[in-house]
Amino acid sequence: MSATYINLDQALEKVEIAHELFLKNKGDFQNRPIDKIKKVGEILLARKKEFAHVISLEMGKPVFESIAEIEKSALNCDFYTEHVEEFLKDRTYSTDRYNAIVRYEPMGVILGVMPWNFPFWQAFRFAIPTILAGNTIVLKHASNVPKSAQLIEDIFTEAGFEKGTYLNLHLESKNIQKIIEHPAIKAVSLTGSEKAGASVASVAGKEIKKSVLELGGSNAFIVMDDADLDLIIDKAINARYRNAGQSCIAAKRFLVQEGIYDEFLKKFTEKVKALKMGDPFDETTEIGPMARVDLAEELEKQVNDSVKMGAKIITGGNRNEAYYDPTVLTDISIEMPVFKEETFGPVAVVKKIKSFEEAVELSNLSTFGLGVSICTESVEKYSDKIHLFEEGAVFFNELVRSDPKLPFGGVKKSGFGRELSEEGIREFVNIKTIVIS
Ligand code: NAP
Repeated sequence: MSATYINLDQALEKVEIAHELFLKNKGDFQNRPIDKIKKVGEILLARKKEFAHVISLEMGKPVFESIAEIEKSALNCDFYTEHVEEFLKDRTYSTDRYNAIVRYEPMGVILGVMPWNFPFWQAFRFAIPTILAGNTIVLKHASNVPKSAQLIEDIFTEAGFEKGTYLNLHLESKNIQKIIEHPAIKAVSLTGSEKAGASVASVAGKEIKKSVLELGGSNAFIVMDDADLDLIIDKAINARYRNAGQSCIAAKRFLVQEGIYDEFLKKFTEKVKALKMGDPFDETTEIGPMARVDLAEELEKQVNDSVKMGAKIITGGNRNEAYYDPTVLTDISIEMPVFKEETFGPVAVVKKIKSFEEAVELSNLSTFGLGVSICTESVEKYSDKIHLFEEGAVFFNELVRSDPKLPFGGVKKSGFGRELSEEGIREFVNIKTIVIS
């Protein structure tokens, strides 16, 4: 892969191109490229099979999930083209002294650093609102999805955007510091690991540049005694095993109240055993390989170390190259790696709990705080307890998922800032106050 990397000078040249384009169009930012973003959405849908094939080829996602990823990226285009004017329109205010206008101006060139697990969705989630706000983008994608990365730039070109609106930087991550330090870069959005987030945010902080971080997660999926298992069991499976478990918002720790524990574990395990693992290009495959062998090995180590500490394998637990069997573990203690670390693969831990209070305590033990699912037929009973969860999202009777209409992001080591919705599009704007006396 390294042979195709561009060098730092080439990358800085691209930053300059994006900067010049930004300056050229700066005065006209309220003339938003709605038609071109619509065109991006149309291209995505028209060529979804081709793009999905590339995703599956590069990171192993079952092809039906890759198609869904492309469709969701197109949905994000629809959502923002429909709402951008409303989200970024001038606001007028009257104070006791002045009349004022608050205007949302673009910032300049924004750097994106994105991961491989949803190679299209992560990039479009960031790029669509950022471009509609009037910024330009340089994007460093994960090194194991270079074709997806280039295709995304090509889509913007095909949709009629000028060169410099969205430029792909196929660059080694060690060079990112110099990109952030370039004066034209005004902010950075990173989706990825805690380590990468800390590194990027510290450079940005030193430069007094804004950063948005979407990092890891170890979401709890809480099942109370009064949960409707028929309603939630497929959601529980989907929450953990889609994308072979390689999702930040996946449910990783199932906390199940004692009265329903046996029935939940039986039904959950039956469904896990029935999951079809295999070739990602077979349309009936539900679990493909993990994205890289080293990631599967890392997961295997977390499981094996936990088993040595007393965890019990109910099903799965085997690896064949990058394929890791869908796995269910019980007899979990909070010191085990599968409980206290993020497991980025198809491994569920199921832990018995006595009460809602215990669920809150265990859920909050994670250093991450992306989201939590609470399954119960008594939503009203728990709705005044939502503040107890140290999370960016609380979903009742539903798996945590992102939706263009809703803000998305975390607290604690899951990062800061928000993407999507009205909140997301206002992350990379200069909120300018204009007073008329
Ligand atoms: P990663 O290793 O952090 O990579 C993410 C991106 O950061 C890649 O483009 C990577 O480039 C780059 N990168 C890595 N180290 C860097 C550094 N020191 N400086 C600058 N850039 C650096 O993460 P991953 O393994 O691809 O993805 C898995 C992680 O992402 C998990 O923790 C997952 O939970 C998290 N994630 C979070 C969200 C969310 O929305 N919160 C969504 C998806 C994934 P290279 O590929 O060249 O190393």
